[in-house]
Order: sequence, then structure tokens, then C-alpha cells
Amino acid sequence: MNVLVINAGSSSLKYQLLNVETREVYAKGNCERIGIDGAFIGHEEMGGEKQKLVCELPNHKVAAEHVFEILSKLDVKIDGIGHRVVQGAWRFPESKVVTDETLGWVREVAPLAPLHNYAEADVIDECRARLPEVGNVVVADSAFHMQIPEVAHRYALPRDVVDKFHIRKYGAHGTSHRYIWRATDHFTNHETHKLVSCHLGSGASLCAIQDGHDMDTTMGLTPLDGLIMGTRCGTIDPATVCYLEREGGYTADEVDTMMNKQSGLLAVSGVSSDSRDIEEKADAGDANCKLALEMFSYRAAQLICEMAQAMEGFDTMAFSAGIGENSATNRANIVRRLGWLGVKIDDEKNSVRSDEVRDITGEGSSVRVLVVPTDEEYMIALDVKDLLG
Ligand code: ADP
Repeated sequence: MNVLVINAGSSSLKYQLLNVETREVYAKGNCERIGIDGAFIGHEEMGGEKQKLVCELPNHKVAAEHVFEILSKLDVKIDGIGHRVVQGAWRFPESKVVTDETLGWVREVAPLAPLHNYAEADVIDECRARLPEVGNVVVADSAFHMQIPEVAHRYALPRDVVDKFHIRKYGAHGTSHRYIWRATDHFTNHETHKLVSCHLGSGASLCAIQDGHDMDTTMGLTPLDGLIMGTRCGTIDPATVCYLEREGGYTADEVDTMMNKQSGLLAVSGVSSDSRDIEEKADAGDANCKLALEMFSYRAAQLICEMAQAMEGFDTMAFSAGIGENSATNRANIVRRLGWLGVKIDDEKNSVRSDEVRDITGEGSSVRVLVVPTDEEYMIALDVKDLLG
């Protein structure tokens, strides 16, 4: 079965056309700078060179039209389309086939993720119009976290407020964490029971997964909470927001932008949001970059313990996404802080680069430590196959 996976960001649209049985990727790409000057599509086909196609992309609908145009030149029939929806909230505790009703739900819950959900809903409209005979599936990033028990997902705010505004921990990266569980379970031959899944990219979150069930995660109502990220501050005292508005004269939107786009590793390092740049400058002696790396691993180790507490222990941890898969330094920094729990990695194994799942556990470690390359597109395609195949 050939599945087209679409992932609309606020100003981007990523796509991948793959065979769900063989995991062969026929084509993939990203429409970038949608609605901004200088838009282009980076497109790649199996065995081919990466191409840059410059075109006008005023909105996501037009971007989707271009994607269909490009893919129509391939000799690959699309059998189903999977859509990554950032926020599914209470409407999508699991993936669902798109109907008029379920598409309405994507827009209904959009105020919780306005930059993403409306864009993906427009793309779904375009897909249904363009290929009316092909089924579409919504795979919400929040779905997995809807399993989290109330003791962990409830916010200690007044009940009427929580109910009226649908406030709770929704989390994100759920599709990635679900994939990481699946790959870990397979790799360890079902020996993993209590996993702390560490998705560490420019957005970063942890998830406590016990025998495949989601017990807790570090992101909250929005993807701002939890770990320190590329440009996001992660958990801070919520009163900071009121203080900045009251005393600093900032508007709500300004504080929102500050916390999401101007904070995190970027703010602490003063150099970049990208861990590669920060590691390089830290090695050269830059004190702010060293501090950024220390703060990142400090918070990560602290929240790994929080996730372990949700399961009353852990037997495996898995590093994934851009930083988790590629940065031996960040992995070593985090595990060093967990030394008091008996967690150890093997330095030599940690320094190996590979696209495969690998075990980097050190001798005598109290838990198994893995590196698990994530594959959200494949997970989405699997859901499409389950629902439409
Ligand atoms: P997202 O999907 O959230 O945009 P990714 O999972 O692609 O993020 O991760 C991007 C981040 O991964 C980059 O910002 C960079 O910090 C980090 N990264 C990628 N490769 C390396 C590397 N070799 N060493 C250190 N960090 C890396």
C-alpha cells in the first residue's frame, strides 16, 4: 500500500510518499516559506538528487496543489493519505478516517494549535477535492497522550475553568513516542516494560511508556512546556507571564513569541538554537554555550526522573530525534547526571554514528540505554494502513 504522509507546519508542508509494507520512500520533500517571500520546495526522489523548486506558495492549499503536481509525474498510485494533525485534543484519542464530521473536529479544536490545525485542515480539503477516491486519515500528535491518567494530565486549576476551556496536558510528539516504543519493544525482544522515551529535536519532549501505555509526558496544554528546547523556554514559573505583562508592559502575544521563538538554547547561548553550533562554541570555550548545554542536560535528567516516577521505575531509556540520535555529547551529559541512579553508557558505543537502533548501555548499568531513530511518517502510514488498508 502506497501512502502519502502530509505534515503541515505554520509556514511549511512536509510530504513523503512511501510503501508501507517495504518502507521504501518513493519521494519526499518540504514546501518552505509558505506565505512568505522566497518560497520554494525541496524535493527528493529515491536514488535521485535533491532539487530546489522555486515557486509562489501563498498558502497551504497552493502548496498541496504543487505537491500533487510533482507526485503525479511519478509512476506511483497513492492508496491512502495520512495527515499529521498537531492538536487532536479530546476529539482524537486515536487516529480516525476523514469524514465531513471528523474534518470539522480538526477545525473545532484548532484554537489550541491555531498555526497548525487550520493549515492541515485546508490541506485535507485539497486532498479530498483532488483525489476523491482516496481515503484520508487524521493522525493527531496528541492522541497517544490522551491515555495519560487524570492524576497526571489534570491541571490544578478551578474545575469550571478547566472544563470550559478544555485545559489539560495534551502533549505532542505522540506519534514519535509511539514509534519509539514500537521500535524499542521490537529491538529488546519485548523485554522493555518501563520506557522513558526521549524525543530531543529542536522541539523536545519525554514520555513515560509502560507496556505500551502512555503514563505521562513533559509537554502540556501546548508544546511549550517541559524541556529546554531550541527556541522555547520549557517549564518556567507561570507567574513570570503575568509579571512580564504587568511590570514589563508586554502584551500576551509578545510574551508568547518571546517564550516560543526567542528563548531556550538560543537565548542562553546567545549564539544559536542549533545544538551543533552550541557544541562547537562550547568546545572553543564559550561560557554561555557551556551553560546552555549544562542547562539542557540538567533539565532533561530532572524530567527523566519525573517520567520514571510516573511508572515507579524504568528499565529502558531511548534517545531519539535530531539531538538524541546525533549528539553523543548531549547523550553523555544527560546520562552523567543520572549516574547516581546507576545509569551508565559505553563511551565507545555512544560515539558510533548509525541510522539503526543501537544499544549504548555501559557495563553494569541499572537501565538499558538505546538510540532509536524515530520515523513518524512510517507510524502515520501504518495507521493509514490499519484504517484503510
Ligand atoms: P525538529 O523536527 O523538531 O525540527 P529535529 O529532530 O530535526 O528537529 O532536530 C533538529 C536539531 O537536531 C537541530 O536543531 C540540532 O540541534 C540537532 N542536531 C542534528 N544533528 C546534530 C548533530 N550531529 N549534533 C548535534 N545536534 C544535532
